[in-house]
Amino acid sequence: MLTLLANAKINLYLEIIGNRPDGFHELVMIMQSVALADRITLTPLKSPTIQLLCDHPQVPTDHTNLAYRAVALLQKRFPEQTNGVGGVEIAIDKKIPVGAGLAGGSSNAAATLFGLNVLWNLGLTRAELQALGAELGSDVPFCLAGGCAIATGRGEEINPLPHSPQLYAVLAKYNSLSVSTPWAYKTYRQQFESTYLPLNDSANLAERQARVHSGAMVKALGSGDLSAIGDQLSNDLEKVVLPAYPKVNQLKQTMLSVSASQGASQSASQGASQSASQGASQGALGTMMSGSGPTVFTLTETLEQAQAIAHTVAAQVGDRNDLQLQVAPFTTKGIVLQP
Ligand code: ATP
Repeated sequence: MLTLLANAKINLYLEIIGNRPDGFHELVMIMQSVALADRITLTPLKSPTIQLLCDHPQVPTDHTNLAYRAVALLQKRFPEQTNGVGGVEIAIDKKIPVGAGLAGGSSNAAATLFGLNVLWNLGLTRAELQALGAELGSDVPFCLAGGCAIATGRGEEINPLPHSPQLYAVLAKYNSLSVSTPWAYKTYRQQFESTYLPLNDSANLAERQARVHSGAMVKALGSGDLSAIGDQLSNDLEKVVLPAYPKVNQLKQTMLSVSASQGASQSASQGASQSASQGASQGALGTMMSGSGPTVFTLTETLEQAQAIAHTVAAQVGDRNDLQLQVAPFTTKGIVLQP
């Protein structure tokens, strides 16, 4: 039996560049793992079946579950190694909100690939696992890598970034709302296709990707310039999700105003001589929607600031009982094998 923690991700940056010949979008993203994890337990079964247990009402327990599909993919691709090893029971203890823009399903698939590689002695390298993961979903390769990375292509090509400061994310999501990722991209295409790069314009595509590699967010992460990290948060999908989901837009405004007042009260308590930008670096750093939403996150420098912001946001939103608020530190790991 193996137990793994499958961490969620947030998007610090998400830019949509154009269409791809395969029907997906050409993206440049900066992804960051956060220590908010589903617990995946893999138990070998004697019979060659796949059983999936999860008591979250929005998570399918049939062949459409991404973790189930990860098992089926390994069995299909490695019939000689997996024939005769029996089946597996996958138990998912869901902590990552579902349909939230936090890659919950992808992280479960990543953990299942990682765990079965160990359990079934497949001897696959991380790059081989990532190539398989990309067949299941664009975010799976990043979930296997973890940490901080630039993701290009449809999100499956991962370039790790060595430095990201130890920050904290306040994650806020209404339980009653989830956003379909295909809907968000389709709606973006309907509204913004005229701004896309032409198909197969590889020179300009490479230039747009290079701009992010050498851009302000990567520099800010590398130098640990916290207020610049906050300033450079960006997500093209906000342009379609926030107008379609006014509650999410309102939640973002609440988090921004709580962050601003938190920063102001902290800099006041630390003396009037402190400059505005120092004041900002003591408070919340920035607020943005993650992926296709509807999770909105605020970054902070300390755990105490994150907890204070979560507390104040909870007091200010109308339907508190519907709002899931969690504080998650940045982490360098995507999947953690439990002892
Ligand atoms: P992403 O950020 O990768 O776009 P997401 O966080 O927005 O993903 P998920 O939590 O992965 O969304 O869920 C999207 C849908 O996928 C769910 O509504 C559910 O039907 C389906 N799904 C399949 N497998 C899983 C899984 N293991 N965990 C959660 N959802 C799953």
